[in-house]
Amino acid sequence: MTGCEAAIRPARAVIDPGALLHNLSVVRRHAPDSRVMAVVKADAYGHGLVPVARWLAPHVDALAVATAGEGRVLRQAGIEGPVVVLHGMNDAGEWRCVLEHDLEPVIHSLHQLRILSALQQGERMPRRLWIKLDTGMHRLGLGSADLPALDAWLAECSERPEVVWMTHFACADDAGDDTTRQQWQRFCTLLEGREGPRSAANSAAIMAWPETHADWVRPGIMLYGGSPLAGREGPELDLKPVMRFEAPLLAVREVRAGEGIGYGLAWHADRDTRIGIVAAGYADGYPRHAPSGTPAGLRGHRLALAGRVSMDMLAIDLGQVEAVPGEWVELWGETVPVDTVAAVAGTIGYELLCATAGRTRHVWQEAVSAPDT
Ligand SMILES: *Cc1c(COP(=O)(O)O)cnc(C)c1O
Repeated sequence: MTGCEAAIRPARAVIDPGALLHNLSVVRRHAPDSRVMAVVKADAYGHGLVPVARWLAPHVDALAVATAGEGRVLRQAGIEGPVVVLHGMNDAGEWRCVLEHDLEPVIHSLHQLRILSALQQGERMPRRLWIKLDTGMHRLGLGSADLPALDAWLAECSERPEVVWMTHFACADDAGDDTTRQQWQRFCTLLEGREGPRSAANSAAIMAWPETHADWVRPGIMLYGGSPLAGREGPELDLKPVMRFEAPLLAVREVRAGEGIGYGLAWHADRDTRIGIVAAGYADGYPRHAPSGTPAGLRGHRLALAGRVSMDMLAIDLGQVEAVPGEWVELWGETVPVDTVAAVAGTIGYELLCATAGRTRHVWQEAVSAPDT
């Protein structure tokens, strides 16, 4: 890369493909009898849709994106395996995109079936439909009252597509909350007497609710090393961070006890110290509401955010740690799990990872030897 390219936004996300495969092996360890649909929506949770999908595709049974447009991007990148569109298609244009690119839509409403019926004449069906049932989350999904219309529609298909039944859990991140068991029960009851594979478990359920693994599991966050369980961090669940989000030091400043730093002078040095000014801010996806004291890493040391996060900069208290401009500061990664930053900033790792999508440069580390997954 030329110097000018790097200078556009110095913050970067270094992606560790070996960690992706390690985390996939954790999925397989938890759910050895299930097929794996790797969820790569939202630009692979901010890690880069196409490279992550290319890297994972040979090791998983399907990929999942949110929209037909994302599915088309994968096809145009030459990815050939099954690609599931979690939002399904919601108008005729999306439906054609699904067909043209051999994507597998999620059917979650009768509205979608009406679109299909209007179009079906002469057009082929996807080879597989994922039919989503609402078992209590009340976001997307067919209810029991919709099933007769679904059955009638399926009976009319000239070539009946393969059907996978799916549902989604509202509270699986809390291993003490009985909602997941109730949703699973409801799913089983709705499907009594019906043939076809089943899919319910996201990352949290893969880790906390083994009885829900069924035929297909759908890991997202855990592939990227983030914790799916409330109050836990990725590393304690044997998950490795895939992204190291980092930016160089722009300046190293001496400040005296009592001096304030940054907008609002919201942080004051309680002793003579040195401050590192880091070339990343909320415009790069670092959360503006991260408070002073939020950890950041420098050569394995844990340092603390000092004062408010600016648009393109933030400050850290270097204390006794020697540092020079140009050194890279880890905003999250191995020294500071993204879950730690999320917890102190009042959000979840998912949001922080996704917020780096698009504008952040993604740099792939050399692939270490691929584990057998
Ligand atoms: C995003 C998503 C997943 C993955 O969820 P994680 O919590 O990231 O594992 C699985 N299933 C559906 C339907 C989703 O929308």
